[in-house]
Amino acid sequence: MKKESLAWVRPELCVMSGYSVLESSEGMIKLDAMENPFGLPEDVRSRLAREVASLSFNRYPDPQARELKEVVSRVLGVPVPRLFFGNGSDEVLLNLFLSTAGSIVSPEPTFSMYRIIAKSVGRNFRGVSLLPDLTLDMKSLETVLKEEKPGILVLATPNNPTGTAYSMEQISQAATLAERAGFTTLLDEAYFPFHGESALDAFPGRESLLVLRTFSKMGLAGLRLGFLSAPEPIVGILDKIRLPYNMDALTQKAAVFLLNEVLPLLEEQVQEIRVLREDLQEKMSRIPGISPIPSRANFILFRVAGKSPEEIFRFLLEKGVLVRDVSSHHPLLNGTLRVTVGTREENMIFLNALRGGMES
Ligand code: PMP
Repeated sequence: MKKESLAWVRPELCVMSGYSVLESSEGMIKLDAMENPFGLPEDVRSRLAREVASLSFNRYPDPQARELKEVVSRVLGVPVPRLFFGNGSDEVLLNLFLSTAGSIVSPEPTFSMYRIIAKSVGRNFRGVSLLPDLTLDMKSLETVLKEEKPGILVLATPNNPTGTAYSMEQISQAATLAERAGFTTLLDEAYFPFHGESALDAFPGRESLLVLRTFSKMGLAGLRLGFLSAPEPIVGILDKIRLPYNMDALTQKAAVFLLNEVLPLLEEQVQEIRVLREDLQEKMSRIPGISPIPSRANFILFRVAGKSPEEIFRFLLEKGVLVRDVSSHHPLLNGTLRVTVGTREENMIFLNALRGGMES
C-alpha cells in the first residue's frame, strides 16, 4: 500500500506492534495461552445447546445483562451496582483506559495488552521495571506516579508472564502511593483462581481499588466474559462509554447457565491444575539448565541456560508443543519462556520434549 493512502491513520499506530497469536495451532499441544485444558462434559454441552437454541436471535440482548449480574453477584459476593462487564477483561481495560484523562502506569514485565490498549486509545503508557526478584520497586513507582498526569496504576497479581503475586502489603503500599498522586489502582486478578488471595477480601471497603477478574482462565475463555468490581460512580461512568449490547445474547445465556451449573466442576478443575502446576514445576527444575520461577498462576515462567529461548521454542514446536517465547519482551525476561499447565499427559510430553531440547 502506498504511504499516502495511510495519511488518515494515526502515525503511531503504523509503527505500533499488536498482540501476537499464532494463526493456527491445530493438532498442537497448546500450552501458550493459559487455557484450562480439560473442557466441559458432553451432557453439559447438550444442555447448553438447548439453552442457547431457546434465544430470540432477532432481538437485541438485555443491555444491562441483569440476570447475569445477579448470578455473578451471588457467586462472587460483589453487589450488583458495583459490577461492570466486558467482552473479556480486555474490553473492561479498554473502557477503563478510555475513561481516564491521565497516564496508565504499570510495573513491567507485565501483560502486554496494557501498553497496546493504552496506545491504541491515545493514552500515555509508562512502565516501571520490577526489581530483579520480580517484586515492586516502590521508589521508582513513587517517582513515576508523581511525574505523570493522574490516571490508572495497573497491577496484575498474579502477574503475567512472571506468575508471581505481590503481597497484600505491597499492594496496599502501592495503592497508597497512587492515591496520594491522584491515581486509582486497578488490580488485575485474572489468575486469582490459581492463587486464592484477593483484594476483594483483603480490602473490601477501599474506594480507590478497582478489581478486574475474568472467567477465561478457569475454563470459559471462549465465552469472553470479564468483569470489574468498582464503586458505583465509576461503574456509572464506564456505562456511559461502553458500546450498547457489549454482552451478546449468547454470552449472557451461556454464562448464566454455566455459572449456575458447572461452577463446582470448574473449581475442581482449578484445584487439579494447581496440583499439576506444583508437579510440573518440580519436574522442570530437575532438568539440567532449566530454572522455573515459582508460580501462583496456571503457567510457569522458566529460564533456560546454555541454549537460546528461540532454539528451545523451535525445538518444542517441531515436537508439536506450543509454548510462548517471552524473552524479548523485557530485559528481566532475557532467556525465558512461558508454559501453560496442561493435562498430566500434555505436561509429560512437554517435559520429554524440553529434556530433548536441552540435550540436543
Ligand atoms: N489480564 C491478564 C493479566 C491476562 O494475562 C489476560 C489474558 N492473557 C487478560 C487480562 C485478558 O483475559 P480475558 O480478556 O480473556 O478476560
